[in-house]
Amino acid sequence: GWLEGQAVLVTGAGSGLGRAIVDRFVAEGARVLAFDRSAEKLTAVKAEHAAAVEVVAGDVRSPHDNQHAVETAVEAFGRLDTFIGNAGLWDFNGSLLDTPADRLDQGFDELFGVNVKGYLLGAKAAAPALRESGGSVVLTLSNAAFFPAGGGPLYVASKHAGVGLVRQLAYELAPEVRVNAVAPGGMDTDLRGPESLGLATTRIGQAFPINDVMRQASALHIAPGAEDYVGAYVLLAAKAQSSTITGAVIDASGFGTPARPATPGA
Ligand code: NAD
Repeated sequence: GWLEGQAVLVTGAGSGLGRAIVDRFVAEGARVLAFDRSAEKLTAVKAEHAAAVEVVAGDVRSPHDNQHAVETAVEAFGRLDTFIGNAGLWDFNGSLLDTPADRLDQGFDELFGVNVKGYLLGAKAAAPALRESGGSVVLTLSNAAFFPAGGGPLYVASKHAGVGLVRQLAYELAPEVRVNAVAPGGMDTDLRGPESLGLATTRIGQAFPINDVMRQASALHIAPGAEDYVGAYVLLAAKAQSSTITGAVIDASGFGTPARPATPGA
């Protein structure tokens, strides 16, 4: 495998993209610490992988929980090579004009708490072990890190903030640690929204025909599953394949190229 002997920590590892990263990274030879706030999802991850995977239940908004996850990984694996910040919330396109001010207030704190502060605190906890191993950070961003309309202002601003984190942390952690990101496009996962916006139990696919939108809007006219986005993470984590890459955001969304009509010649 491409990741033989690597020790990796993934946040939001219980479902969707994080879960697909765990499955693929184990298949590539890595051992993985799966960190998620859902203990139930983690039980399923552990049941499938046994020895290759350790799990920690916690909240990425907590400095203590991030520290605990890193310590558990280093205890179990003896090292940490890759930190993957991935846990996230979506705002279900809630707009500036239609969202009451008090909801914007609370929704901002909750969504930025997970999507931005969660990445910052995870990188903070992982940095010493990553400096020791000469490892790397990979963050999950989104088409919303580059383009409008992949969410409302809360989500789009949070993913743009992620680009700032990649650039600044790549600068601060060089030359020992590379820092990069992958920006996937839409996929039908368990992605939820902030509790403070009443969206904690709504899944992206319930509220929104995400696969239809992808087929129409992406240049490639495909509706990818989470596993289709994982190759870019393998590339960035495999130092032998990406030793010169830092401060980069791989746009895996297909949204940077306008979609041509689905029927040739139409
Ligand atoms: P998902 O909900 O299936 O996975 C996210 C996981 O994060 C869940 O298991 C959830 O329990 C966990 N989580 C949420 N808040 C947490 C917290 N405070 N502490 C710890 N864990 C927490 O959704 P997904 O689509 O796989 O999302 C993963 C990433 O992909 C997110 O950063 C999201 O913004 C990004 N993304 C998703 C899409 C999409 O269309 N699904 C598109 C672009 C980017």
